[in-house]
Amino acid sequence: RHNLDGDEAVRSTNDDASHCKRFAVHLGYWSDPYLPLLVRNTERKTPEINRGYFARVTVITNMVEKFIKAMKGNCQIVNFGAGFDTLFWKLKGADLPVKKFVEIDFANVTSRKCHYIKNNNKLMEALHCDDEEVSYNTTELHSGIYHLASADLRKLSEVESKLKECSMEFSVPTLFLFECVLVYMPIQFSHSLLQLIADKFSTTFCINYEQVNMTDRFGDVMLSNLRSRGCSLAGVEACASLKTQEDRFILNGWDGAQALEMNQVYHGLISPQEIQRIEKIEFLDEKELLDQLFHHYCICVAWKDSLDLKLNLLSI
Ligand code: SAM
Repeated sequence: RHNLDGDEAVRSTNDDASHCKRFAVHLGYWSDPYLPLLVRNTERKTPEINRGYFARVTVITNMVEKFIKAMKGNCQIVNFGAGFDTLFWKLKGADLPVKKFVEIDFANVTSRKCHYIKNNNKLMEALHCDDEEVSYNTTELHSGIYHLASADLRKLSEVESKLKECSMEFSVPTLFLFECVLVYMPIQFSHSLLQLIADKFSTTFCINYEQVNMTDRFGDVMLSNLRSRGCSLAGVEACASLKTQEDRFILNGWDGAQALEMNQVYHGLISPQEIQRIEKIEFLDEKELLDQLFHHYCICVAWKDSLDLKLNLLSI
């Protein structure tokens, strides 16, 4: 890690996230039959990391499903900085397909994902729709409903042309997902990207999961841990508070935003039965550490609702 340049270190955060998810799935925190097809090895993680990922994946999946149901499937999803995420396959498996699902990441990450998808029948099968061809090269894969494309999210012209190449329809309700992504780019770039989305899409909902309350001592420790691994959180200013998380959407043309700490999510938005089930999986010694971690991550949703589809009612 120490020898990686900044972008390389950012790309490698996908390996961390996907290994954490892989181990939590292995222990039964949630079920994902597709992840082992992309991430073979399991690497042991601590119980608080596993619970943190459980809360993150559960709340994001629930919110995405709620959006799809509210739009009756007449919608598109763009997962920016998607890494090895399997949401597209999970939604297909749950019989919740959407009109179009686009994943964008650095070429170096998409090429590896592309390789795994091309070589796996189960992952490939889900891409077929209405006899449309699946085409691919080393870094991208395109089908009628699913697109895996490479771009640097800091370069708006690249992002815009990829969205066009994937035949995104700007008038169809579209959900944008950023799961631990924006924080890795300087704030002016994430502002421009959020502005671009609000300018282009008339009806849009965004889910952003990332760090918050980073101005205290625990936040400093999290930052220096990442720095020691060569990875800087260049956009950490937006992670000062729930308000700074909400403000960056409002400042960039969105109609409304709401952010919640993961403590609030874990104790209020996930079903008590699910919490009871997963708390039996592993004994957690360090309850305070988990509370601290949950206090330093948040989910922020934002909406722009030109058609008045009551997207604000999907807030948390
Ligand atoms: N969203 C995935 C998840 O939660 O499992 C991956 C999260 S990982 C922490 C961050 C991802 O964002 C990496 O895959 C990284 O390559 C991608 N990313 C960060 N900055 C990016 C940029 N400027 N352009 C494209 N991708 C970027």
